[in-house]
Amino acid sequence: PPPTRDHNPHAKVVVMVRKRPLNKKEEGSRAFDVITMFDRDTGRLVLHEPKTKVDMSKCVDNHHFAFDKIFAEHTANQEVYDHAVRPLVEQCISQEGCMATAFAYGQTGSGKTFTMAAVYTAAAHSILRSARQYGLRVGISFFEIYGVKCFDLLANRKPVNILEDAKGKVCLVGLVEHPVEGPDQVLQLVEHGTRCRSTGSTSANETSSRSHSVFQIVLKEPEGGQRSTRKLALIDLAGSERGADTANADRKTRNEGAEINKSLLALKECIRALSTGSSHVPFRGSKLTQVLRDAFVGERSRTVLLAHVAPASNSAEHSLNTLRYADRIK
Ligand code: ADP
Ligand code: MG
Repeated sequence: PPPTRDHNPHAKVVVMVRKRPLNKKEEGSRAFDVITMFDRDTGRLVLHEPKTKVDMSKCVDNHHFAFDKIFAEHTANQEVYDHAVRPLVEQCISQEGCMATAFAYGQTGSGKTFTMAAVYTAAAHSILRSARQYGLRVGISFFEIYGVKCFDLLANRKPVNILEDAKGKVCLVGLVEHPVEGPDQVLQLVEHGTRCRSTGSTSANETSSRSHSVFQIVLKEPEGGQRSTRKLALIDLAGSERGADTANADRKTRNEGAEINKSLLALKECIRALSTGSSHVPFRGSKLTQVLRDAFVGERSRTVLLAHVAPASNSAEHSLNTLRYADRIK
């Protein structure tokens, strides 16, 4: 029988999977759905991997997995938010020093941005409502890690320096943190940042699938010190398949691919350290994990990995890689 996993909603690390529907193009081709999801709460799913490219429908290898939760193709964004991100938001509000992080992982086209775009505003609105109630200040920053460099998406992609002090504390020098008071302001920032993300020098899809973008909501008590600061980071990762851009590509693409690969592997190790309570967190393994250091080292750190899969048979190999990555994260 396939494995199951006891889902503990208060675990430091939670792993979920979202499957998007087949799109028109996939339906129009001979592609078919290779992912069967069972009950959301037992988290069980099967990927039917075609054995041959010729007669795909008949011959499959079945790969069984179990995650903390799974979301089938017709799950609404609101429901994904409620299960995956709302608990993080609630913890940020109720606990001083909380560092909560949600990652969207998956190949390009699997639905990462679709999920995260909906989550930014939902999370910010909910945080704003409670912040008003408890007298907390809310600030938003939105930046992108592209290769080993960092760019401010709320300041026309201005480069931001990543510095680490003697105590290992990482600082993004000059990153703008916008104070916000109402939902309209949040919406404006999200739109501005998203536009900035997709209008870089290279073509829209290219850049965004090769960079990690970090939307960060910071909560502060007006008189509180550093320790009372709480942070929620929502991260739309680079396309997981981009890490394999190592052959048949120009030098720049190869270097970018190598950095993406490095960052996703380092991320896996850091989340695993958080989940096992290991004191050695290898956050220096990549720029991404270095920048996100606080998300892994704190006593009050919590992480959700939301793996995204496209259901079509021609994506089976990438989907299997994504599910294996998610499976090994804790
Ligand atoms: P990624 O960011 O992983 O590259 P996108 O979020 O851009 O992928 O999604 C690719 C396409 O699929 C987009 O047109 C998006 O609107 C659509 N899509 C993704 N997820 C869903 C979903 N759950 N339901 C409906 N459409 C989706
Ligand atoms: Mg995207």
